[in-house]
Amino acid sequence: MHLPTEGQEERTAQSPRVSVAVPLYNEESNVEELVRRVTLVLDALPGGPHELVLVDDGSIDGTRRLMEQASARDARIVSVFLSRNFGHQPALSAALDHVRGEVVVLMDGDLQDRPEEIPRFVEKFREGNDVVYAKRERRKESMWLRAAYWTYYRMLARVSNISFPLDAGDFGLMSRRVVDEIRRIPERNRYLRGLRVWAGFRQVGVSVERDARYSGESKYSFWRLVALGLDGVFSFSIVPIRAATLLGMGAMGLTLLFVLYAIYARVALDRSPQGFTALLVVIAFVSGVLLFFLGVIGEYVGRIYEEVRGRPIYVVERVVRGDGE
Ligand code: UDP
Ligand code: MG
Repeated sequence: MHLPTEGQEERTAQSPRVSVAVPLYNEESNVEELVRRVTLVLDALPGGPHELVLVDDGSIDGTRRLMEQASARDARIVSVFLSRNFGHQPALSAALDHVRGEVVVLMDGDLQDRPEEIPRFVEKFREGNDVVYAKRERRKESMWLRAAYWTYYRMLARVSNISFPLDAGDFGLMSRRVVDEIRRIPERNRYLRGLRVWAGFRQVGVSVERDARYSGESKYSFWRLVALGLDGVFSFSIVPIRAATLLGMGAMGLTLLFVLYAIYARVALDRSPQGFTALLVVIAFVSGVLLFFLGVIGEYVGRIYEEVRGRPIYVVERVVRGDGE
């Protein structure tokens, strides 16, 4: 499809320096296993020096201590501590601001994303791709959650103004130039898997299995998951506003028809329409629709407010680099 440019040919020969970036929020039961498996993979990867960037998102359990120990033990492990819990997507942004590799792999800290997939991603990168994202083939989550994810990604792909790949999460590899483009985006509302598509370049999906959590519980409550889902829709689509326009137009059309009928009934049949119940139903329905779309507009207004305030996305308390930098 694309002819390789000079830069891409050059890339085939080299072994890039890989940064693996992981956000952690109260993951004390996963940190050690995570570090063990990731460093094993990095040991076997040609090139380097590779690094593992752990971002603590304001954990209140033993996660911070374990991270410090890991950084002290292994010079390749960088620990970034945020000043409080900012959320998964802000923590990922913090990670992107601290990585130094030529390619960056984002993954979760609960080992749902298998570190052993990283060499496959790097291989795809060397073939000339700038983004290699994991397509989640088989999820090991509850059935209703899987169904919700399935529906959501298909709906998002339809309404958004960029072409979203289906079933792709944050797990994946990005080249340095993609990371730099994403870092240039000033949006506070960071839906990274969307911004990654937005950045463009050559993107390719790799099928992976999504494991169950190694240990601990999901940090996404139902409502946080819904909020993340809404972020995806509202950040990449104005279809909800258009829906209001269309619905309004439809209602006006129907009303016009009804008015014509009412005049006809009065003049030709000498009958005026009546019905208290019908009236009540129509009023209640229309107020519901109005309130609903007021809410939709409110979502956008709230997001505009967040953007113009321009607060930083996260605050760093401390960075520990194993090599003493
Ligand atoms: N996470 C985070 N901050 C949060 C919530 C989650 O850094 O406020 C991290 C969490 O530690 C994990 C990753 O984001 O490494 C994904 O979270 P989780 O596994 O809970 O989400 P799920 O896989 O259930 O969608
Ligand atoms: Mg998880």
